[in-house]
Amino acid sequence: MPLEFPELREAVVEANLALARAHLVTLTWGNASVVDRRVGVFGIKPSGVPFERLRPEDIPVLSLDDGRTVSGQLRPSSDAPTHLVLYRHFSEVGAVVHTHSRFATAWAQAERPIPCLGTTHADHFHGPVPLVRMLSDEEIRDGYETRTGAVIVEYFVSHGLNPLNFPGALVPRHGPFAWGEHGPRAVENAIALEMIAEVAAWTVMLAPEVGPIRPALLDRHFMRKHGWSAYYGQRETLQNGKS
Ligand SMILES: [Zn+2]
Repeated sequence: MPLEFPELREAVVEANLALARAHLVTLTWGNASVVDRRVGVFGIKPSGVPFERLRPEDIPVLSLDDGRTVSGQLRPSSDAPTHLVLYRHFSEVGAVVHTHSRFATAWAQAERPIPCLGTTHADHFHGPVPLVRMLSDEEIRDGYETRTGAVIVEYFVSHGLNPLNFPGALVPRHGPFAWGEHGPRAVENAIALEMIAEVAAWTVMLAPEVGPIRPALLDRHFMRKHGWSAYYGQRETLQNGKS
């Protein structure tokens, strides 16, 4: 029988391999997923399988309605319910990445949002990297992974944030989640988040009194990559050779 959802599964394998290549994951601590909203499913890394051994047929495919596995033999990552909540509430998001990358995890363990201290950060996040609230003891005991997604969504809704303008968040005492419109963009945002976290940690060590970047510089850098008149990189038409 031909493999179901071959393109989706290939995209999930590629996103997970890219995380490993970028040294964002240690052992099996991390996972990437990609959604296909036309069909209403998402594929995610299977639980406990080494990244370098992942094959398309290993990828569990889950329903976007209820998180049940609709295709695949292996158990999905235990974080799958968190990914499901993010997909169901962030309609612009096409891929989700979770890692325990070192510096982003350090900020999460310190229970500190990452302040925007320079233009590297401003190129990717339109302000501090959010730190969401700690789960209550009841939330940890009952539906932990689902509630981890719920507190991320709660933060974005209560602060009126667009998840594409803030493509990641820190879960306290745990680590980062990042996302994007598709697999490569979600991985890129996870890489950027780790770089931002490392440079911010060094900056705070060198200058503990340093304040956030000025709003004009933050807006200038964020908008030139993400605003309606974004001019960073090459225009689509030029890249496609049409003009
Ligand atoms: Zn984790």
